[in-house]
Amino acid sequence: MKRIVVVGGSIAAVTAASWLRVRGFDGTVTLLSAETEQPYTRVPLSKTVLCGEATDSSTALPPLDDSVVVRLGARAVSLDTGARQVILESGEAVPYDGLVIATGGRARRLSPPGMSGERVLRTLADCVALREDLTRARSVLVVGAGLLGMEIASTCRTLGLPVTVVDREPPLRRVLGPFLADVLTSAARERGVVLRTVPGGVRLVGTHTLEGVDADGDLLTADVVVSAVGDIPAVDWLADSGLPLDQGVVTDSCGRVADNIVAAGDAAVVRGTRRRPHWTNAVERARVAADALLGENVPGAALPSYFWTNQFGVDVKVAGEPADLGEPDLVDVVDNSMLLRWSAGAAATVNHTMPVRKLRQLASAS
Ligand SMILES: Cc1cc2nc3c(=O)[nH]c(=O)nc-3n(C[C@H](O)[C@H](O)[C@H](O)COP(=O)(O)OP(=O)(O)OC[C@H]3O[C@@H](n4cnc5c(N)ncnc54)[C@H](O)[C@@H]3O)c2cc1C
Repeated sequence: MKRIVVVGGSIAAVTAASWLRVRGFDGTVTLLSAETEQPYTRVPLSKTVLCGEATDSSTALPPLDDSVVVRLGARAVSLDTGARQVILESGEAVPYDGLVIATGGRARRLSPPGMSGERVLRTLADCVALREDLTRARSVLVVGAGLLGMEIASTCRTLGLPVTVVDREPPLRRVLGPFLADVLTSAARERGVVLRTVPGGVRLVGTHTLEGVDADGDLLTADVVVSAVGDIPAVDWLADSGLPLDQGVVTDSCGRVADNIVAAGDAAVVRGTRRRPHWTNAVERARVAADALLGENVPGAALPSYFWTNQFGVDVKVAGEPADLGEPDLVDVVDNSMLLRWSAGAAATVNHTMPVRKLRQLASAS
Protein backbone atom coordinates (compact mmCIF):
# COMPACT_ATOMS: atom_id res chain seq x y z
CA MET A 1 0.00 0.00 0.00
CA LYS A 2 1.55 3.28 -1.14
CA ARG A 3 -1.16 5.94 -0.88
CA ILE A 4 -3.55 6.41 2.02
CA VAL A 5 -6.26 9.04 1.78
CA VAL A 6 -8.03 10.22 4.94
CA VAL A 7 -11.34 12.00 4.29
CA GLY A 8 -12.22 14.38 7.14
CA GLY A 9 -10.58 17.29 8.90
CA SER A 10 -11.02 16.96 12.62
CA ILE A 11 -10.02 14.77 15.54
CA ALA A 12 -10.69 11.34 13.97
CA ALA A 13 -8.99 12.25 10.69
CA VAL A 14 -5.97 13.90 12.32
CA THR A 15 -5.56 11.02 14.80
CA ALA A 16 -5.73 8.42 12.02
CA ALA A 17 -3.21 10.32 9.87
CA SER A 18 -0.71 10.75 12.71
CA TRP A 19 -1.19 7.16 13.93
CA LEU A 20 -0.34 5.82 10.46
CA ARG A 21 3.05 7.51 10.83
CA VAL A 22 3.48 6.31 14.43
CA ARG A 23 2.95 2.78 13.09
CA GLY A 24 5.66 3.30 10.51
CA PHE A 25 3.62 3.75 7.32
CA ASP A 26 6.00 5.60 5.01
CA GLY A 27 3.84 6.00 1.92
CA THR A 28 1.81 9.10 1.03
CA VAL A 29 -0.83 10.24 3.53
CA THR A 30 -3.28 12.83 2.20
CA LEU A 31 -5.95 14.40 4.39
CA LEU A 32 -8.95 15.88 2.56
CA SER A 33 -10.96 18.31 4.67
CA ALA A 34 -14.11 20.12 3.56
CA GLU A 35 -13.33 22.95 6.00
CA THR A 36 -11.06 25.84 5.12
CA GLU A 37 -9.61 26.16 8.64
CA GLN A 38 -6.67 24.09 9.83
CA PRO A 39 -8.03 21.10 11.82
CA TYR A 40 -9.50 22.13 15.18
CA THR A 41 -11.35 20.56 18.07
CA ARG A 42 -15.06 21.26 18.64
CA VAL A 43 -15.13 20.55 22.38
CA PRO A 44 -14.45 24.15 23.60
CA LEU A 45 -16.78 25.77 21.05
CA SER A 46 -19.88 25.51 23.24
CA LYS A 47 -17.96 26.23 26.43
CA THR A 48 -15.14 28.79 26.40
CA VAL A 49 -14.98 29.93 22.76
CA LEU A 50 -18.65 30.91 22.54
CA CYS A 51 -18.33 33.37 25.40
CA GLY A 52 -14.92 34.67 24.28
CA GLU A 53 -13.02 33.22 27.24
CA ALA A 54 -10.86 31.23 24.79
CA THR A 55 -9.76 32.41 21.35
CA ASP A 56 -10.75 30.79 18.07
CA SER A 57 -7.12 29.88 17.40
CA SER A 58 -6.82 28.01 20.72
CA THR A 59 -9.02 25.27 19.23
CA ALA A 60 -6.34 24.25 16.70
CA LEU A 61 -5.29 20.61 16.91
CA PRO A 62 -1.54 19.96 17.09
CA PRO A 63 -0.16 20.27 13.54
CA LEU A 64 0.46 17.09 11.60
CA ASP A 65 3.91 15.96 10.56
CA ASP A 66 5.05 17.81 7.40
CA SER A 67 4.99 14.56 5.49
CA VAL A 68 1.18 14.48 5.67
CA VAL A 69 -0.44 16.41 2.82
CA VAL A 70 -3.31 18.45 4.26
CA ARG A 71 -5.76 19.71 1.64
CA LEU A 72 -8.28 22.21 3.00
CA GLY A 73 -11.54 23.11 1.22
CA ALA A 74 -11.41 19.67 -0.40
CA ARG A 75 -14.93 18.28 0.01
CA ALA A 76 -15.47 14.68 -1.09
CA VAL A 77 -18.74 14.26 -2.99
CA SER A 78 -18.55 10.59 -3.94
CA LEU A 79 -16.49 7.45 -3.73
CA ASP A 80 -15.69 5.00 -6.50
CA THR A 81 -14.55 1.86 -4.72
CA GLY A 82 -13.94 0.00 -8.02
CA ALA A 83 -11.52 2.60 -9.36
CA ARG A 84 -10.32 3.39 -5.78
CA GLN A 85 -10.91 7.10 -6.13
CA VAL A 86 -12.40 9.82 -3.95
CA ILE A 87 -14.20 12.39 -6.10
CA LEU A 88 -14.00 15.99 -4.91
CA GLU A 89 -16.53 18.80 -5.40
CA SER A 90 -14.13 20.29 -7.97
CA GLY A 91 -14.44 17.11 -10.06
CA GLU A 92 -10.91 15.98 -9.26
CA ALA A 93 -10.47 12.26 -8.63
CA VAL A 94 -8.03 11.47 -5.79
CA PRO A 95 -6.67 7.91 -6.06
CA TYR A 96 -5.99 5.76 -3.00
CA ASP A 97 -4.71 2.34 -2.07
CA GLY A 98 -6.14 2.65 1.45
CA LEU A 99 -8.97 4.90 2.64
CA VAL A 100 -9.96 6.23 6.07
CA ILE A 101 -13.48 7.66 6.31
CA ALA A 102 -13.60 10.27 9.11
CA THR A 103 -16.19 12.79 7.94
CA GLY A 104 -17.88 13.08 11.34
CA GLY A 105 -21.30 14.66 11.62
CA ARG A 106 -23.20 17.84 10.85
CA ALA A 107 -25.77 19.65 12.91
CA ARG A 108 -29.39 18.62 12.44
CA ARG A 109 -31.63 21.59 11.62
CA LEU A 110 -35.34 21.99 12.22
CA SER A 111 -36.00 24.78 9.71
CA PRO A 112 -37.00 23.99 6.13
CA PRO A 113 -34.62 25.03 3.34
CA GLY A 114 -34.98 28.74 2.62
CA MET A 115 -35.84 29.81 6.20
CA SER A 116 -33.15 31.92 7.88
CA GLY A 117 -32.64 32.63 11.56
CA GLU A 118 -32.04 29.19 13.07
CA ARG A 119 -28.57 28.96 14.59
CA VAL A 120 -26.74 25.68 15.21
CA LEU A 121 -23.34 24.94 16.76
CA ARG A 122 -21.13 22.36 15.11
CA THR A 123 -18.32 24.24 13.37
CA LEU A 124 -16.05 27.13 14.29
CA ALA A 125 -17.93 29.24 11.72
CA ASP A 126 -21.24 28.39 13.51
CA CYS A 127 -19.64 29.43 16.81
CA VAL A 128 -18.38 32.75 15.45
CA ALA A 129 -21.81 33.56 13.95
CA LEU A 130 -23.66 32.64 17.14
CA ARG A 131 -21.22 34.58 19.32
CA GLU A 132 -21.72 37.63 17.15
CA ASP A 133 -25.53 37.31 17.49
CA LEU A 134 -25.22 36.97 21.26
CA THR A 135 -23.43 40.30 21.55
CA ARG A 136 -26.65 42.01 20.37
CA ALA A 137 -29.17 39.65 21.96
CA ARG A 138 -31.40 40.32 24.94
CA SER A 139 -32.82 36.79 25.11
CA VAL A 140 -31.96 33.28 23.89
CA LEU A 141 -34.08 30.24 23.17
CA VAL A 142 -32.31 26.89 22.96
CA VAL A 143 -34.20 24.04 21.30
CA GLY A 144 -32.85 20.74 22.57
CA ALA A 145 -31.85 19.93 26.14
CA GLY A 146 -29.12 17.40 25.46
CA LEU A 147 -25.45 17.91 26.37
CA LEU A 148 -24.83 20.51 23.67
CA GLY A 149 -28.05 22.50 24.23
CA MET A 150 -27.45 22.70 27.97
CA GLU A 151 -23.79 23.72 27.47
CA ILE A 152 -24.93 26.54 25.18
CA ALA A 153 -27.52 27.60 27.77
CA SER A 154 -24.85 27.58 30.47
CA THR A 155 -22.51 29.75 28.40
CA CYS A 156 -25.32 32.20 27.61
CA ARG A 157 -26.00 32.55 31.35
CA THR A 158 -22.29 33.27 31.86
CA LEU A 159 -22.83 36.15 29.43
CA GLY A 160 -25.77 37.32 31.55
CA LEU A 161 -28.41 36.51 28.95
CA PRO A 162 -31.89 35.25 29.86
CA VAL A 163 -32.20 31.69 28.48
CA THR A 164 -35.10 29.32 27.92
CA VAL A 165 -34.41 25.71 26.96
CA VAL A 166 -37.19 23.68 25.40
CA ASP A 167 -37.28 19.95 24.66
CA ARG A 168 -39.84 17.21 24.31
CA GLU A 169 -38.15 15.35 27.19
CA PRO A 170 -36.77 16.55 30.53
CA PRO A 171 -33.19 17.82 30.10
CA LEU A 172 -30.29 15.37 29.68
CA ARG A 173 -32.19 12.24 30.73
CA ARG A 174 -31.73 10.45 27.43
CA VAL A 175 -27.95 10.65 27.72
CA LEU A 176 -27.27 10.74 31.47
CA GLY A 177 -30.24 9.00 33.10
CA PRO A 178 -32.42 10.57 35.82
CA PHE A 179 -29.90 10.94 38.65
CA LEU A 180 -27.13 12.82 36.85
CA ALA A 181 -29.65 14.73 34.75
CA ASP A 182 -31.28 16.01 37.95
CA VAL A 183 -27.90 17.18 39.31
CA LEU A 184 -27.31 19.32 36.22
CA THR A 185 -30.93 20.43 35.87
CA SER A 186 -30.89 21.75 39.45
CA ALA A 187 -27.68 23.64 38.70
CA ALA A 188 -29.27 25.10 35.55
CA ARG A 189 -32.35 26.27 37.47
CA GLU A 190 -30.19 27.79 40.21
CA ARG A 191 -28.41 29.81 37.51
CA GLY A 192 -31.74 31.10 36.23
CA VAL A 193 -32.37 28.97 33.14
CA VAL A 194 -36.05 28.47 32.29
CA LEU A 195 -36.63 24.84 31.33
CA ARG A 196 -39.73 23.82 29.39
CA THR A 197 -40.77 20.31 28.49
CA VAL A 198 -43.09 20.09 25.50
CA PRO A 199 -44.00 16.40 25.07
CA GLY A 200 -45.43 16.97 21.59
CA GLY A 201 -42.19 18.60 20.41
CA VAL A 202 -41.77 22.08 18.98
CA ARG A 203 -42.25 23.52 15.52
CA LEU A 204 -40.39 26.49 14.11
CA VAL A 205 -42.71 29.32 13.04
CA GLY A 206 -42.02 31.68 10.13
CA THR A 207 -41.87 31.60 6.36
CA HIS A 208 -38.62 33.15 5.15
CA THR A 209 -37.34 34.22 8.57
CA LEU A 210 -37.70 32.36 11.83
CA GLU A 211 -40.24 34.19 14.04
CA GLY A 212 -40.37 31.87 17.01
CA VAL A 213 -41.14 28.38 18.20
CA ASP A 214 -44.56 26.84 18.61
CA ALA A 215 -44.52 24.89 21.87
CA ASP A 216 -47.87 23.09 22.18
CA GLY A 217 -49.76 26.20 21.08
CA ASP A 218 -47.59 28.78 22.89
CA LEU A 219 -45.44 30.99 20.65
CA LEU A 220 -41.98 31.30 22.24
CA THR A 221 -39.83 34.10 20.86
CA ALA A 222 -36.27 35.29 21.54
CA ASP A 223 -33.65 37.43 19.83
CA VAL A 224 -31.59 34.31 19.16
CA VAL A 225 -32.91 30.79 18.56
CA VAL A 226 -30.32 27.98 18.62
CA SER A 227 -31.13 24.37 17.80
CA ALA A 228 -29.11 21.63 19.42
CA VAL A 229 -31.15 18.66 18.29
CA GLY A 230 -28.45 16.18 17.44
CA ASP A 231 -26.03 15.53 14.66
CA ILE A 232 -26.37 13.62 11.41
CA PRO A 233 -23.46 11.43 10.29
CA ALA A 234 -21.83 13.15 7.31
CA VAL A 235 -21.97 10.16 4.97
CA ASP A 236 -24.12 11.56 2.13
CA TRP A 237 -21.08 11.44 -0.12
CA LEU A 238 -21.06 7.64 0.29
CA ALA A 239 -24.69 7.18 -0.80
CA ASP A 240 -23.80 5.52 -4.13
CA SER A 241 -20.60 3.85 -2.96
CA GLY A 242 -22.16 0.52 -2.05
CA LEU A 243 -20.67 0.72 1.45
CA PRO A 244 -22.95 -0.31 4.34
CA LEU A 245 -24.71 2.76 5.81
CA ASP A 246 -26.98 2.71 8.85
CA GLN A 247 -26.70 5.66 11.28
CA GLY A 248 -23.21 6.15 9.84
CA VAL A 249 -20.88 3.92 7.87
CA VAL A 250 -20.96 0.46 9.43
CA THR A 251 -17.64 -1.06 10.49
CA ASP A 252 -16.57 -4.30 12.11
CA SER A 253 -14.94 -4.22 15.53
CA CYS A 254 -11.59 -3.31 13.92
CA GLY A 255 -13.00 -0.34 12.02
CA ARG A 256 -13.02 -2.15 8.65
CA VAL A 257 -15.76 -1.28 6.18
CA ALA A 258 -14.60 -3.02 3.01
CA ASP A 259 -11.32 -4.04 1.34
CA ASN A 260 -8.75 -1.34 2.13
CA ILE A 261 -11.42 0.95 3.62
CA VAL A 262 -11.81 1.77 7.33
CA ALA A 263 -13.86 4.35 9.22
CA ALA A 264 -13.83 6.03 12.63
CA GLY A 265 -15.33 8.84 14.68
CA ASP A 266 -18.82 10.34 14.49
CA ALA A 267 -19.29 9.15 10.89
CA ALA A 268 -18.93 5.51 11.89
CA VAL A 269 -20.82 2.95 13.90
CA VAL A 270 -19.52 -0.47 14.93
CA ARG A 271 -21.94 -3.17 13.71
CA GLY A 272 -24.38 -4.19 16.45
CA THR A 273 -23.61 -1.24 18.75
CA ARG A 274 -24.89 2.32 19.25
CA ARG A 275 -23.06 5.18 17.59
CA ARG A 276 -20.85 6.98 20.15
CA PRO A 277 -20.47 10.60 19.01
CA HIS A 278 -17.85 11.53 21.62
CA TRP A 279 -14.31 12.86 21.45
CA THR A 280 -12.55 9.92 23.14
CA ASN A 281 -14.34 7.43 20.91
CA ALA A 282 -13.14 9.34 17.82
CA VAL A 283 -9.52 9.19 19.02
CA GLU A 284 -9.56 5.55 20.06
CA ARG A 285 -11.44 4.24 17.04
CA ALA A 286 -9.22 6.25 14.66
CA ARG A 287 -6.17 4.41 16.00
CA VAL A 288 -7.91 1.04 15.73
CA ALA A 289 -8.98 1.85 12.15
CA ALA A 290 -5.49 3.01 11.11
CA ASP A 291 -4.02 -0.21 12.54
CA ALA A 292 -6.59 -2.28 10.61
CA LEU A 293 -5.67 -0.52 7.37
CA LEU A 294 -2.06 -1.54 7.96
CA GLY A 295 -3.16 -5.12 8.47
CA GLU A 296 -3.11 -5.23 12.25
CA ASN A 297 -6.60 -6.33 13.12
CA VAL A 298 -6.83 -5.50 16.77
CA PRO A 299 -10.41 -4.73 17.75
CA GLY A 300 -9.35 -2.35 20.50
CA ALA A 301 -10.06 -3.01 24.15
CA ALA A 302 -13.75 -3.48 24.88
CA LEU A 303 -13.80 -0.44 27.12
CA PRO A 304 -16.91 1.38 28.23
CA SER A 305 -17.48 4.62 26.32
CA TYR A 306 -16.20 7.80 27.95
CA PHE A 307 -17.39 11.39 27.67
CA TRP A 308 -17.65 14.55 29.71
CA THR A 309 -19.48 17.83 29.97
CA ASN A 310 -18.96 21.12 31.81
CA GLN A 311 -21.99 23.25 32.44
CA PHE A 312 -23.38 25.56 35.15
CA GLY A 313 -20.16 25.22 37.13
CA VAL A 314 -20.50 21.43 37.26
CA ASP A 315 -17.92 19.08 35.76
CA VAL A 316 -19.28 15.62 34.86
CA LYS A 317 -17.32 12.66 33.52
CA VAL A 318 -19.06 9.46 32.49
CA ALA A 319 -17.84 5.95 31.65
CA GLY A 320 -20.43 3.63 30.15
CA GLU A 321 -24.02 4.51 29.30
CA PRO A 322 -26.00 5.19 32.46
CA ALA A 323 -29.09 6.46 30.63
CA ASP A 324 -30.99 3.16 30.71
CA LEU A 325 -29.70 1.96 34.07
CA GLY A 326 -31.99 3.87 36.42
CA GLU A 327 -30.66 5.07 39.77
CA PRO A 328 -26.97 4.43 40.65
CA ASP A 329 -26.22 1.69 43.23
CA LEU A 330 -23.48 3.71 44.80
CA VAL A 331 -23.47 7.40 45.53
CA ASP A 332 -20.45 8.68 47.40
CA VAL A 333 -20.76 12.39 48.23
CA VAL A 334 -17.94 14.53 49.64
CA ASP A 335 -18.70 18.25 49.87
CA ASN A 336 -19.96 19.15 46.38
CA SER A 337 -18.24 16.27 44.61
CA MET A 338 -19.71 12.84 43.85
CA LEU A 339 -18.69 9.41 42.68
CA LEU A 340 -21.49 7.32 41.20
CA ARG A 341 -21.61 3.71 40.13
CA TRP A 342 -24.19 1.59 38.36
CA SER A 343 -23.32 -2.11 38.80
CA ALA A 344 -24.91 -2.86 35.42
CA GLY A 345 -21.93 -1.10 33.79
CA ALA A 346 -21.43 2.62 34.28
CA ALA A 347 -19.65 5.07 36.57
CA ALA A 348 -19.48 8.84 36.78
CA THR A 349 -17.84 11.64 38.69
CA VAL A 350 -19.24 15.06 39.51
CA ASN A 351 -16.66 17.75 40.33
CA HIS A 352 -14.21 15.00 41.16
CA THR A 353 -10.88 14.22 39.52
CA MET A 354 -10.17 10.60 38.65
CA PRO A 355 -8.01 9.11 35.89
CA VAL A 356 -10.12 8.04 32.92
CA ARG A 357 -8.69 4.53 33.12
CA LYS A 358 -9.82 4.18 36.72
CA LEU A 359 -13.30 5.48 36.01
CA ARG A 360 -13.64 2.97 33.19
CA GLN A 361 -12.42 0.16 35.45
CA LEU A 362 -15.06 1.15 37.96
CA ALA A 363 -17.72 1.05 35.25
CA SER A 364 -16.59 -2.40 34.12
CA ALA A 365 -16.32 -3.98 37.57
CA SER A 366 -19.71 -5.41 38.45
C1 LIG B 1 -19.78 22.16 20.24
C2 LIG B 1 -19.40 20.75 20.57
C3 LIG B 1 -18.92 20.43 21.82
C4 LIG B 1 -18.55 19.11 22.13
N1 LIG B 1 -18.11 18.82 23.40
C5 LIG B 1 -17.76 17.54 23.69
C6 LIG B 1 -17.32 17.21 25.02
O1 LIG B 1 -17.27 18.06 25.91
N2 LIG B 1 -16.95 15.92 25.25
C7 LIG B 1 -17.01 14.94 24.29
O2 LIG B 1 -16.66 13.78 24.56
N3 LIG B 1 -17.42 15.23 23.03
C8 LIG B 1 -17.81 16.50 22.71
N4 LIG B 1 -18.25 16.81 21.45
C9 LIG B 1 -18.28 15.72 20.44
C10 LIG B 1 -16.94 15.63 19.70
O3 LIG B 1 -16.49 16.90 19.33
C11 LIG B 1 -17.11 14.75 18.47
O4 LIG B 1 -17.39 13.44 18.90
C12 LIG B 1 -15.86 14.77 17.59
O5 LIG B 1 -15.70 16.05 17.03
C13 LIG B 1 -15.96 13.75 16.46
O6 LIG B 1 -14.83 13.87 15.68
P1 LIG B 1 -14.82 13.43 14.15
O7 LIG B 1 -13.46 13.78 13.64
O8 LIG B 1 -15.32 12.06 14.00
O9 LIG B 1 -15.94 14.34 13.42
P2 LIG B 1 -16.10 15.89 13.26
O10 LIG B 1 -15.56 16.61 14.43
O11 LIG B 1 -17.52 16.11 12.87
O12 LIG B 1 -15.16 16.25 12.01
C14 LIG B 1 -15.47 15.81 10.71
C15 LIG B 1 -14.56 16.51 9.75
O13 LIG B 1 -14.78 15.98 8.45
C16 LIG B 1 -15.00 17.05 7.53
N5 LIG B 1 -15.90 16.58 6.47
C17 LIG B 1 -17.22 16.30 6.55
N6 LIG B 1 -17.69 15.87 5.37
C18 LIG B 1 -16.64 15.91 4.51
C19 LIG B 1 -16.49 15.59 3.13
N7 LIG B 1 -17.52 15.14 2.39
N8 LIG B 1 -15.28 15.74 2.56
C20 LIG B 1 -14.19 16.18 3.30
N9 LIG B 1 -14.29 16.50 4.60
C21 LIG B 1 -15.50 16.36 5.21
C22 LIG B 1 -15.64 18.14 8.37
O14 LIG B 1 -15.52 19.38 7.74
C23 LIG B 1 -14.82 18.01 9.64
O15 LIG B 1 -13.59 18.66 9.52
C24 LIG B 1 -18.65 18.10 21.13
C25 LIG B 1 -19.15 18.42 19.86
C26 LIG B 1 -19.53 19.74 19.57
C27 LIG B 1 -20.08 20.06 18.20
